Amino acid sequence: MIVELRHVYKNYIQGKMETPVLKDINFGIEEGEYVAIMGPSGSGKSTLMNIVGCLDQATSGELFIDGRDVSKCTDNEMADVRLNKIGFIFQNFQLLPRETALENVALPLSYAGVPVKERRKRAAEALEKVGLGDRMKHTPLQLSGGQKQRVAIARAMINHPKILLADEPTGALDQASGRAVMEMFRALNDEGITILMITHDANIAAHADRIVEIWDGELRYPEGEEHTFTGSAAAKNKETGAEQDQPAGPEDAEETEAEHE
Ligand code: ADP
Ligand code: MG
Repeated sequence: MIVELRHVYKNYIQGKMETPVLKDINFGIEEGEYVAIMGPSGSGKSTLMNIVGCLDQATSGELFIDGRDVSKCTDNEMADVRLNKIGFIFQNFQLLPRETALENVALPLSYAGVPVKERRKRAAEALEKVGLGDRMKHTPLQLSGGQKQRVAIARAMINHPKILLADEPTGALDQASGRAVMEMFRALNDEGITILMITHDANIAAHADRIVEIWDGELRYPEGEEHTFTGSAAAKNKETGAEQDQPAGPEDAEETEAEHE
């Protein structure tokens, strides 16, 4: 599993008031999967995405990203995971308003220490790829919503992350632009990018290969699709592996032959 959450809780604390928002979230995503988490406004979707994206920390529980126990990471290590493993897409695009499309896309590369010439080259290629080769010098104000989200997609993918996290990616878009964004997600997933999309919209969620619902901070799985922990699964594999490592006695050999017949 490329992402796994085990018993994740999140409480927001304001003064003396503690509001439980996520309650015992157990969830996993296999590498290459395209999953949607769907739920109404206020159900905890953005809170969950911020935790998976290492933008915020859970109150308790464990989070594994690409085999790494992120719940035990320092802030710097979390920033490292964000930069190298995850691309983000937000409903409101989160572009720098005064910077050009090219500068916006190139930004993560500057954090990654890529020289400026190389940054521009790669950002230009990324913008070409999302069909905005003729809009590189435009600022967000000079772009339509759909174009802004394509700039955001180019920026999200510039460091070649394994995981794309999207929070209501079509929420601020007209239908045609929303459809274009969904087509791009499908193409990225076909290239092997793991996608977690969060939405309140069943029509948008339907673009994913698997949908899990969230209600009032709790996940609801379709029957028979409940999350099984890799921890116990891994332990089982280990047992089986250990047995196989031992030289097969004569009885075992007979059994194996019998199975083949
Ligand atoms: P969704 O994205 O599904 O609409 P959110 O994750 O944004 O839901 O919010 C879930 C709940 O947590 C809401 O009741 C919201 O009011 C509360 N909440 C979100 N962020 C904060 C915060 N920073 N402080 C306190 N409460 C918050
Ligand atoms: Mg939200």
